[in-house]
Amino acid sequence: MEKKNIDWGNLGFGYVQTDKRYVSNYKDGAWDEGTLTSDATVVISECAGVLQYAQTVFEGLKAYTTEDGHIVTFRPDLNAARLKSSAERLEMPVFPEDRFIDAVVQTVAANEAYVPPYGSGATLYIRPYMFGSNPVIGVKPADEYQFRVFTTPVGPYFKGGVKPLTIRVSDFDRAAPNGTGHIKAGLNYAMSLHAIVSAHNEGYDENLYLDPATRTKVEETGGANFLFVTKDGKVVTPKSNSILPSITRRSLVYVAKKYLGLEVEEREVYLSELKDMAECGLCGTAAVISPVGKIVDHGKEICFPSGMTEMGPITKKLYDTLTGIQMGRIEAPEGWIKVIK
Ligand SMILES: *Cc1c(COP(=O)(O)O)cnc(C)c1O
Repeated sequence: MEKKNIDWGNLGFGYVQTDKRYVSNYKDGAWDEGTLTSDATVVISECAGVLQYAQTVFEGLKAYTTEDGHIVTFRPDLNAARLKSSAERLEMPVFPEDRFIDAVVQTVAANEAYVPPYGSGATLYIRPYMFGSNPVIGVKPADEYQFRVFTTPVGPYFKGGVKPLTIRVSDFDRAAPNGTGHIKAGLNYAMSLHAIVSAHNEGYDENLYLDPATRTKVEETGGANFLFVTKDGKVVTPKSNSILPSITRRSLVYVAKKYLGLEVEEREVYLSELKDMAECGLCGTAAVISPVGKIVDHGKEICFPSGMTEMGPITKKLYDTLTGIQMGRIEAPEGWIKVIK
């Protein structure tokens, strides 16, 4: 397979159209058999449910080349299960989990020429999503849906080295106490755009959102979960039913316990505790872990001892172990690596 002539190491995180995408339509209570297509456009009614009432959910995962030359994805079964729970919360039909994995495999295989080579640091980002496609004007769930999977090659996250982030405690909330914070829905992102633009304008990389009910506990950022390390080397990660259950964070918790023998606490984490933490990182598919150097709470700075130039030592161990598992350098737990080719 001839790879595309792409400068993998200098790719950013943007949309690059690839050759094929998967499409399946839901109508009269059933999904059709689904197909790969070259057509990168979606044509829907001007009154489609997704356009009027934001009935759409999505996933994000990556395909990449391992050390021994296989093309793989990481734990796609968990993305399938999460899309199911997201769809159920928005009254959308579930795309069967086995078919989700099959659609991901088919789409990646059809775009093999865009899967970056091992060692480039680049990956093929995979975006499965679904939306209400028929006209809806009275508020109700759509009757027809489209499920799609497209891929786009993305560059190394830490281009030019790791740079710990500076984040602010946001005055905006990302989720309501019994709302939709735990599902991967576009609506959670639409309402975060103003907060992220204003954070960037003020010189911050990200927003730390607090629990909306009491505004005393740490939830997450707009698109990544928190991991903290205490001064005595314990891993602590916030627990709340309005946090999106990150697959990366769940995998890192496993790695911390089973590979590194660390103690892990999944519990409520108070903003007031952060000054005592030794390390802080953001977990998500994009970066695996991005270290946080500083959190600013209305002018009051919390500076982690790990500093502003490198990952903290335990964050680094977690990062190296999980990326080693993903790239095939370290043996993976049963079922974590889905081989495509
Ligand atoms: C997708 C997402 C994450 C990260 O989840 P991963 O499965 O690790 O990629 C974290 N928070 C939010 C709000 C998200 O949408």
